[in-house]
Amino acid sequence: MGFDLSVLDEEKICPKCRERMSCCEAPPIHVGDGLGWGSEILFICLNDACPTFLNGWDQIERKYGHHASYRYMELPGSKEGNFMMVGNSDAFKACVINRDTLKEQNERFAREKEAVEGLKTCLEEKNIDPVMTLLLDEAANVNARKTAITYLIQLNDTACIDPLRNHKFRDTAFEHEINVAIKAILKANFKKECPYCMEIIKAQAKKCLHCKEDL
Ligand SMILES: [Zn+2]
Ligand SMILES: [Zn+2]
Repeated sequence: MGFDLSVLDEEKICPKCRERMSCCEAPPIHVGDGLGWGSEILFICLNDACPTFLNGWDQIERKYGHHASYRYMELPGSKEGNFMMVGNSDAFKACVINRDTLKEQNERFAREKEAVEGLKTCLEEKNIDPVMTLLLDEAANVNARKTAITYLIQLNDTACIDPLRNHKFRDTAFEHEINVAIKAILKANFKKECPYCMEIIKAQAKKCLHCKEDL
C-alpha cells in the first residue's frame, strides 16, 4: 500500500458519539462513484450506538424510501465530516486496518532496506550486522539473503553461529545453505561444534570443554 505513513499515528474521535473512529481501507471505486475519496484510508465511526448510525435508518427511509443508514466518516488529516451510506451494521467492519501490524510491517521493511544497503559495504567494514539482519528475517528478499550467505562466509565470524542455530528457518534448502556456511566458518577458524552440547570447541579437541563428553 502506498499511502502516507503518518496516517498510522493519526487518532480521530467521532464528534457525534465521542468514540474512537476506525481506520478503514477505502472501498474500491466503482463506475459512477466519480473520483472516489482521493484517499486509500478513511476514518469511519463504526460504533453501532453512534447517533448518526442510529438515526440514519429513519432519515433514509423517509427521504429515499429504502433500508439503509449512515456512518460518520473523515478523511485522514481533515476534520470535515462526511456520511457514508451503509446497508447494514457490518458494512466496513471487514475493512478495518490493523495499524499495529501495518506499522510492524513498515518497520521490518525499513530494516530490510537498510540492511540491503549495508551489504554493499559490509565486507570492507567487516560489519556482520546487515548480513545477520537479512539472514534472520524470513520476510526479506530471497536474493539479498543468498548474497548475505556468501558474505557470511567471507566475514568468517563465529559470533554468527549461535543466533543462526537458534533461528527457525522456514525454507529447508536455505537452512541447508546456512549449515554449509557454518561448517565453512568453523573450519576456517579451526573449530567444531560439540555433537553433544553444540558449544563451539577446538577442531582437534578430544574432550568437550563444556559438557566434558569424550569425542
Ligand atoms: Zn460516532
Ligand atoms: Zn560438549
